[in-house]
Amino acid sequence: MLKKIDHIGIAVHSIAEARRFYEETLGLVCEKVEEVVSQKVRTAFFSLGETHIELLEPMDDSSPIAGFLKKRGEGFHHIAYESDDLLMQLDTARQQDCRLINEQPVPGAGGKQIAFLHPGSTGGVLTEICEPSKQ
Ligand code: ZN
Repeated sequence: MLKKIDHIGIAVHSIAEARRFYEETLGLVCEKVEEVVSQKVRTAFFSLGETHIELLEPMDDSSPIAGFLKKRGEGFHHIAYESDDLLMQLDTARQQDCRLINEQPVPGAGGKQIAFLHPGSTGGVLTEICEPSKQ
């Protein structure tokens, strides 16, 4: 079952530059900057109530974020829902003929398990489902 919107992902060329808007203009606090090697992406998380803003910066040119920036430029990248059962959520998506980017969960930021659903099946919105680690 989905629990909440966990975060909204925003693609940026540089976290160092982009964070100024979130910190100084919006007054949000950066919780952590973390590299997610499986996605070749550097992330910065800002808390906002139960939800977070996740800035995504490519670690190199082969990163999916590098491709996104080249095609679409900086801006909204994905929405992430928290689930208490990611595998069940993926099964349901499969049964509904939803195209999955990750057939199986992969490690995401903050020790979470994550999987992406293809925007071609979600009305154009890249959709992440994440499950917090149970330890
Ligand atoms: Zn995300």
